[in-house]
Amino acid sequence: MAKYILNQNQQDSASGANNELHDETPGACNRLPLSSNRLDVGYFSNCGEAMAEARRKYPSLSSRLDGCYYCCPTCHSE
Ligand SMILES: [Zn+2]
Repeated sequence: MAKYILNQNQQDSASGANNELHDETPGACNRLPLSSNRLDVGYFSNCGEAMAEARRKYPSLSSRLDGCYYCCPTCHSE
């Protein structure tokens, strides 16, 4: 299981600003946002499940979510 978080700050991408999902496990990602900018998603076995929970938990961000290119490549789309 890995702990997933969202960056509450929107990042630029080709199709516009989005909020990235990251794996917070130590060593999983070197592009994690600052602790103060992390929104808790929870523990999941893959980023797809974490993305579904993120959409449910933060509906106002649901249309702007994307997986981090580095730690959630299978959920990265933009
Ligand atoms: Zn990441």
